Amino acid sequence: MESRGGNKRLPVRGVAGVSCLLMTHLKKIQLVSFVSIFAFVGLASGQQNTGMKPEETEIWTPVPAVVTPGATDAAPPSDAIVLFDGKDLDQWVNAQTGEPAHWVVSDGILTVRKAPGVGNIQTKRTFKNYQLHVEWRIPENITGSGQARGNSGVFLASTGPNDDGYELQVLDSYNNSTYVNGQAGAIYKENPPLVNPNRKPGEWQTYNIVWTAPTFNEDGSLKSPAYVTAFLNGVLVQNHFQLIGQTLFIGKPYYKKYDRAPIKLQAHGDKSEPISFRNIWVRELP
Ligand code: MG
Repeated sequence: MESRGGNKRLPVRGVAGVSCLLMTHLKKIQLVSFVSIFAFVGLASGQQNTGMKPEETEIWTPVPAVVTPGATDAAPPSDAIVLFDGKDLDQWVNAQTGEPAHWVVSDGILTVRKAPGVGNIQTKRTFKNYQLHVEWRIPENITGSGQARGNSGVFLASTGPNDDGYELQVLDSYNNSTYVNGQAGAIYKENPPLVNPNRKPGEWQTYNIVWTAPTFNEDGSLKSPAYVTAFLNGVLVQNHFQLIGQTLFIGKPYYKKYDRAPIKLQAHGDKSEPISFRNIWVRELP
C-alpha cells in the first residue's frame, strides 16, 4: 500500500507519460498503415476495371417477359392466377374433405364460415414458389381478446388436413395484446412481425407475400429451408425470414417433405365474429 502513496508515485507518472507518448505514436503509425492498406485495396480493385468498356457489363438476354400490371397495384397483373375475384369459390375446396368449399361469398367478399364441420378451405391448385396478394378485413363489431379475436390465417403451404403447413397469422392486432409471435404478420410461433402496421377493425388490410418453398432430399431430409418475405399494408413485416419448420400450436417446428402444396385459409375455432377476404391472386415463381 505504501508504494502507492506520496512521492513514490512520481516515477510511475513519468513512466505513464512516456507510455502515453509512445502509444500516441503507435496509433498514428497504425492509422497510417490502415489508410495505406485501404488505399492500396481501392487502387487494386479500381485497376481491375482499367481498360474495360461499358458494354462488357451489359446483359441483353434473356429479355424479361412483359407483364401488364393491374390498373392498381392491388389488381392482378396479366400473369397472375386469380384465386378469388369476388364471384365464386371455383378455385377452392374444403381442406378436410376435398369437396366444394362452403364459405360465404356475398357482395364480392369471401367470409369465413365457422359452422361446425366446415373448417379450412384451400386452393385446388398446388404451388411451390410464388408471390401472393391477399386482402382481409376484421369485422368492425369484432369481440373477444388475444387469439380469440378475429383469428384466421394464410397457410403458405398446406401440407395436410387441419392446420398442417406454414401459417402467416391473421388476427385483429390493432389494439389486442397476445404473444408477439402469434399476432398478425407473425409466422405463427416462429417469428413476430418486424412492426405492427395493422389497421382498425372494419378496414381492409393487405398482405403481399413472397414464398420460397422448402426443398427436400429423396430420404425426406431438408435440402433447403423455406423463406418468407411479407408486407402488411405496404409495410415490411417479414424480411426473408428462414423458417425452422411447419408452424405448430404446440411444440417445436419441424420440416415434413412435400413437393407442391395448396394455399389454405383458416377457419379458426374461436367464438369471435368471422373475418372476410377479397382480391386473392398469386404469381408462380421459378
Ligand atoms: Mg391463425
